[in-house]
Amino acid sequence: MSFDSFGLRADLLRAVAEQGYAHPTPVQAQAIPVVLDGHDLLAGAQTGTGKTAAFVLPILQRLSESPAKSRAPRVRALILAPTRELAVQIAERAEVYGRHLPLRSTVIFGGVGMQPQIDRLRRGIDLLIATPGRLLDLVSRRALDLSSVEILVLDEADRMLDMGFIHDIRRVIALLPKQRQNLLFSATYSNEIRRLAESLLNQPRLVEVARRNTAAETVEQRVHPVDKARKRELLAHLFHHEGWDQVLVFTRTKAGANRLAEYLDREGIASAAIHGNKSQSARTRALNDFKRGAVRALVATDIAARGIDIAQLPQVVNFELPAVAEDYVHRIGRTGRAGAGGSALSLVSHDERKLLHGIQRLLRRELDQHPVAGFEPSANPPPDEPERGHVNRDARRARPAAGNARQRPARAAGKPRNNASRRRAPDSVQR
Ligand code: AMP
Repeated sequence: MSFDSFGLRADLLRAVAEQGYAHPTPVQAQAIPVVLDGHDLLAGAQTGTGKTAAFVLPILQRLSESPAKSRAPRVRALILAPTRELAVQIAERAEVYGRHLPLRSTVIFGGVGMQPQIDRLRRGIDLLIATPGRLLDLVSRRALDLSSVEILVLDEADRMLDMGFIHDIRRVIALLPKQRQNLLFSATYSNEIRRLAESLLNQPRLVEVARRNTAAETVEQRVHPVDKARKRELLAHLFHHEGWDQVLVFTRTKAGANRLAEYLDREGIASAAIHGNKSQSARTRALNDFKRGAVRALVATDIAARGIDIAQLPQVVNFELPAVAEDYVHRIGRTGRAGAGGSALSLVSHDERKLLHGIQRLLRRELDQHPVAGFEPSANPPPDEPERGHVNRDARRARPAAGNARQRPARAAGKPRNNASRRRAPDSVQR
């Protein structure tokens, strides 16, 4: 299936192609046609499934099909999100997907000055992404008119309810025209969500996609902080110490995979490397040797590993963290024998701290860090280790248009999302 089959306009397809998306994700494949047809939608999908594009793309299409009725500060599509971070992310996606369209979008959230937001709203907005508290504030100041909203999205509705937004949500809904399209996205279905869905949605179509990072919750994940120069020594130590016999080891580069496999071999750990430069027959041989136990370490790059048809492995090692946080989830998804769980170890050097933060943010949890005795990282990292930043496949870096540095979302500051920031009080009570 390709994006072409939805009947999206060329300027949207171009933006999607520029993002490098080859195929729609399952939630996109199911939700986009439903939204384009004007139906209400109840979607069970969590972050990481591609849910943002699943509603933003068809909304942009629908808005561009029927021009705005006026240039007054009226909103035609309203997306409510529980946190500033998520609101900013959605707004960035809307910006990216809508970059070839003349539609205007903006994001508003609490905790920052209101005037810049009011100014932006006055210029006229088609697509508004907002946290509920600030939205109601702006309505009460008459900076915003919601009587022209044609499409409402509640994103991460379960989190909005967890954060105590139900009354704000109901107040917002009361301000909207009765005739509109409603989309509700939630990672979980509590009775409260069901009640909200029943009262909000009109004959909704249902879309449910598998949790993409289930493995992230069932696999034991650990980080061994270590100096970059000592990683391979530590890996050999772990092989000997843990008695590992079937380990998939990830490196970032093909050359790195070769070098590591050769090193492990020299250390008495039978190894093979697989990557895009190896012939198919060499890869097949390496894989067969690995499966029958003749090779203990299969050293692979991300792309090569996708083609490996060993569904479940006891142990995965990230010799280097992936440049794209989502690849971490794919990597560790290779472990976890049916029912028995698996283990994913990451050897993390000082220069990879930012990558680790990005992964923790995606997982929404901090990974346990255990220095291995004798391999503790030195206090002062070597000066020749430049810090690795994210390759942001999706340019998700949160950067609010307004606000001071202190109040920037944790994501913008590149900090891991921790419980304190996640469970922060809703912006309606921060005012
Ligand atoms: P979301 O679940 O909306 O937060 O999206 C998760 C990640 O998937 C983001 O990094 C998106 O840029 C990316 N993404 C969304 N749709 C696709 C697609 N069709 N193909 C590849 N990546 C995608």
